[in-house]
Amino acid sequence: MADFYDILGISKSATAAEIKKAYRKKAIEFHPDKNPGDETAEENFKKAAEAYETLSDQQKKARYDQLGHQAYTSGGAGGFGGGGGFGGMGMDDIFSQFGDIFGGGGFSGFGGGGGFGGGGRRRVKGKDLRIRVSLTLEEAAVGVEKKVKVKRKKQAPGVTYKTCTTCGGSGQVTRIQNTILGRMQTSAPCNVCGGAGQTMDKKPAGADAQGLVIDEETVSIKIPAGVETDMRLKVSGKGNEAPGNGISGDLLVDIEVKEHAELQREGNNLHYDLYVSVPEAVLGTTKEIQTVTGKVRIPIEAGIQSGKILRLRGKGMPNVNGYATGDLLVHVNVWTPRNLSRDQKEFFESMMADSHFEPAPEKGDKSFFEKVKDMFS
Ligand code: ZN
Repeated sequence: MADFYDILGISKSATAAEIKKAYRKKAIEFHPDKNPGDETAEENFKKAAEAYETLSDQQKKARYDQLGHQAYTSGGAGGFGGGGGFGGMGMDDIFSQFGDIFGGGGFSGFGGGGGFGGGGRRRVKGKDLRIRVSLTLEEAAVGVEKKVKVKRKKQAPGVTYKTCTTCGGSGQVTRIQNTILGRMQTSAPCNVCGGAGQTMDKKPAGADAQGLVIDEETVSIKIPAGVETDMRLKVSGKGNEAPGNGISGDLLVDIEVKEHAELQREGNNLHYDLYVSVPEAVLGTTKEIQTVTGKVRIPIEAGIQSGKILRLRGKGMPNVNGYATGDLLVHVNVWTPRNLSRDQKEFFESMMADSHFEPAPEKGDKSFFEKVKDMFS
């Protein structure tokens, strides 16, 4: 199966500019206006758009490169990304991507000149809204539903729209110019309706120039387990509404996972510093450990060395794609007391001469840093 790089005809080391250029070429080659009724071309057009959608986004590209084509496209995003999950790119999405690629209105090469899509009406999309949601590490570990208040622009009650009289609803205005090359026909988005083909008919009191009012709405956001700071979720259609028959923008949710007082996160693994006293290290004991799903008690064997790392399998963070769960790594630190009573001091002084207290690391005993290195190699 062709991967995204093959689809765009580029190598894995292609730069962002090369990716963009390759996509532009494919988009022109397979554009539906240029290949009317050709389903293969349309299929290729969509594939190129999907490839670009992933490869042009640094985070998505990194995940794609890590998972490979098969896992990335079939695993989907597991509920991640709301309606914007993989494989769901409609023509509207693809065309809305073009502003970025071809620059506003400057695109030409087909469709007769200037306007994209041969003078077709654009569906106006409401503005995307952005919010930041912060959650605890515990919430990130199991997933959570957050309700947030969002101020969205919505069509005012009672507002009506009518066909734009300037462009007759086409969204485009055509001009004929006489030039030295002869008569040239150019078209541009209608500046009365902004290309939507509709204008406001009846404006209710309090509505803005587009017939919209600001309304506060409580939006429920399902946050999947395993999210990390700076991941972004998309709640489709919960951005601003568009005037007329346009489509609503999306609500983009930036995730922030708060630092935990005792657990440090490293990808899917968690680290915990455990302190044991000298007698506990010598005699052995059990200790309570903080995990993201509550406390657990673990045995500490007699004679444990400072620097030892105990691995609690599956007690880390779940992968956001649901493939695996990380571990909790418990770093053992033996706490050495500083101020001793006279008796205590005498006890340790009497042990100074005892050869049993001489450090005698076994050959297999690795240093702390070597162990850490092993763990992540
Ligand atoms: Zn118009």
